[in-house]
Amino acid sequence: MTEALPRDELVSLLRWYVEQGIDDVVGEEAVDRFAAPPPAAAVAVAPGPSAAAAAVEPTMRPPPAAQPAARPSVVAQPRPPVPIESPQLVEDARAVARRCNTVAELEAAVRAFEGCALKRTAKNTVFADGVAGADVMVVGEAPGADEDRMGKPFVGVSGQLLDRMVGAIGLSRESNLYITNILFWRPPGNRTPTVAEQAICLAFTRRHIELARPKVVVLAGGTAAKSVLDTTEGIMRLRGKWTALTLDDGSTVPALPTLHPAYLLRTPASKRQSWADLLSLDKKLRELGLR
Ligand code: URA
Repeated sequence: MTEALPRDELVSLLRWYVEQGIDDVVGEEAVDRFAAPPPAAAVAVAPGPSAAAAAVEPTMRPPPAAQPAARPSVVAQPRPPVPIESPQLVEDARAVARRCNTVAELEAAVRAFEGCALKRTAKNTVFADGVAGADVMVVGEAPGADEDRMGKPFVGVSGQLLDRMVGAIGLSRESNLYITNILFWRPPGNRTPTVAEQAICLAFTRRHIELARPKVVVLAGGTAAKSVLDTTEGIMRLRGKWTALTLDDGSTVPALPTLHPAYLLRTPASKRQSWADLLSLDKKLRELGLR
């Protein structure tokens, strides 16, 4: 048993935790996250559509290789394979996801899946909200504290902004919009998820898109856009440009990367660009005869 610290030291320790983003108590016992990793630590995942999609986290990505200055298309810039610490878990997630034939089955499989470390610290699995099968599916990044508490995506302040934005072109999660994230569990303290955590969840998210069969996908923010489109291109270059997202079953769906509502809250001047993206979405829906 360690000796109790004086109260003022405990208070300053707690304050430091909060400042670092550790604002939730998730268990009675401390978990040693520095315990020895599994022996497969150095194994790289073979390149492939989904494996390449695993390479997402900006801070863990290798420095960009020399590339031509301008690329005509989003999909023309595949990521280099990046080593991830748990390739078997990614394969497990893909296998589980492939076996699901409906969104409901996928949701049950995600809720039952124990292979993603994020689940251990999250309060809830945040799967989706809105109308499964709606023409428009928004894919965001990760649940935050509010989403973790309520078990639904985009219910905090950035979600409220998202609702107002899509509402301006007649979309709502009550009637004609489906919303999810590339991650189903909140990263503790909103830390950047590891490459493996993203790859595991992405296996489910790609299947989620296949099964929900939206007519268009909106990718909210750079992390979701890069991850789903499997590109290293930044959101400022991606946003507003339609691209054909090819899914693992061979189908394609038009996808529109746009700025994340949380970014808009910090940078209100960018709302103009978002409005242009929304108008482009509205136009696309008309072109497809969906309104
Ligand atoms: N940001 C996201 O990307 N998703 C959420 O669900 C909430 C905030």
